[in-house]
Amino acid sequence: MALTLHHWRNGSAYEGIADRFADVTNPATGEVTAQLALAAESDVNEIIGAAAAAFPAWRDTSLAARTRILFRFRELLNERKPELAEIITSEHGKVLSDALGEVSRGQEVVEFACGIAHLLKGGFTENASTRVDVHSVRQPFGVVGIIAPFNFPAMVPLWFFPIAIAAGNTVVLKPSEKVPSAALWLAELWKEAGLPDGVFNVLNGDKTAVEGLLTHPDVDSISFVGSTPIAQYVYETAAAHGKRVQALGGAKNHMIVLPDADLDLAADQAINAGFGSAGERCMAISAVVAVGNIADELVAKIKERTLKLRTGDGTRGCDMGPLITAQAQQRVSGYIDAGEKAGASLVVDGRTVKPDAEGEGFFVGPTLFDHVAADMSIYTNEIFGPVLSVVRVDSYDEAVKLINDSPYGNGTAIFTNDGGAARQFSNEIKVGMIGINVPIPVPMAYYSFGGWKHSLFGDSHAHGTEGVHFFTRGKVITSRWLDPSHGGINLGFPQNA
Ligand code: NAD
Repeated sequence: MALTLHHWRNGSAYEGIADRFADVTNPATGEVTAQLALAAESDVNEIIGAAAAAFPAWRDTSLAARTRILFRFRELLNERKPELAEIITSEHGKVLSDALGEVSRGQEVVEFACGIAHLLKGGFTENASTRVDVHSVRQPFGVVGIIAPFNFPAMVPLWFFPIAIAAGNTVVLKPSEKVPSAALWLAELWKEAGLPDGVFNVLNGDKTAVEGLLTHPDVDSISFVGSTPIAQYVYETAAAHGKRVQALGGAKNHMIVLPDADLDLAADQAINAGFGSAGERCMAISAVVAVGNIADELVAKIKERTLKLRTGDGTRGCDMGPLITAQAQQRVSGYIDAGEKAGASLVVDGRTVKPDAEGEGFFVGPTLFDHVAADMSIYTNEIFGPVLSVVRVDSYDEAVKLINDSPYGNGTAIFTNDGGAARQFSNEIKVGMIGINVPIPVPMAYYSFGGWKHSLFGDSHAHGTEGVHFFTRGKVITSRWLDPSHGGINLGFPQNA
């Protein structure tokens, strides 16, 4: 009998009414490792209720006390991150080193949030009008909902909850039902760090849980990360229910290689960014745009590197792990079929991969297409798998047009040694995160992460100062302490004197 996973409410595991379950699977072996309880509406209400009840006391806990807990959480996470990485690999499939990298990037947001006292400081103006002072503060919202995708079981939730909690909010995190254990592990870590019960809660579930969060009157904000259609639905539904929303969606990221680029560097980085985490990253490169006469040489270099990659179980020191589910494996293979039919040249075929793994894992090997055209489904759709397409263009302008015409605008990169071209590119490209000779330009925690166009609905990006703003509300206080000069009754609009 497989393990049963439940929710986390008020500082301990919470079973709820548990009448629906989903399989949790190890994608490298196909083995079902746990049954996950999917929340019913009453569970959603119970868990949101716990977060709402914990809010007043947490809001009023001093910044010094809140910060001490964050530091303890950071220390515990740092010491024990290999444990979390193993959990991620066992449910997501990404190789262990990649899982560890994800935790470290999430930890950086905890470190940023440890400085929350500085980030929450308001302004003060003395004598704005005669003997009138004005000051501003930023206050926590209340209950914040976080809805996460499967591809970063730890890092994506960590983009949000350290800042939300540090600012004085309470959290309900709904992880992806495919990878629930990282969130439950993090909940236990918070408990160990001394976070009061009810401040961090985990709601496991599917559409019922999401809808509960989007519509419940006690939830004040929603931070969502996932595919574009769901992001748009989440944005519209939560906004219609009066919530502040940031909904990060899907992506299709291009890497432009100019004729003067270092082609070995470009080929290495195309491999890292195209096939890392089996292409299941929102910042993965899926289209390499080769400008001018370098295409043959660049494709040869990428091919040579692709053929050397070892695909298999992420615990065995392989380069690339499996896809998340059997459906994802079929979807990605289907795209490869479609690319071939559409006339793209299949340079390396991942469908025939022989993975280093036991059992029936969900593998597709690294796949390389050349001569991909902008109307082929392998180019237009987010494949979310290890399929790299090379598109050949004659000029820089054509490459820029391709990117600017894309409905997505998450990340992009340019490879060149021409500083002027790189500068022009960063200026005119309609994308939120740009790399110059850097293929996956995920910003540091003190900057903000987010795309443009259909890669983000809402106006706040994740973490950095935008994250602090998202999880707080501004207030401005104008005060005058009575003194002999007050002017009596005056019904006119207040003016400064
Ligand atoms: P998904 O949209 O299927 O799921 C995301 C979340 O929404 C999950 O918690 C899931 O339970 C929930 N959900 C799924 N279907 C739903 C429905 N019909 N109604 C309500 N809730 C629903 O995404 P995924 O497959 O878990 O993750 C991959 C996607 O996430 C990719 O498109 C990827 O680009 C995107 N992503 C984007 C970013 C970013 O920063 N922009 C980061 C990571 C992942």
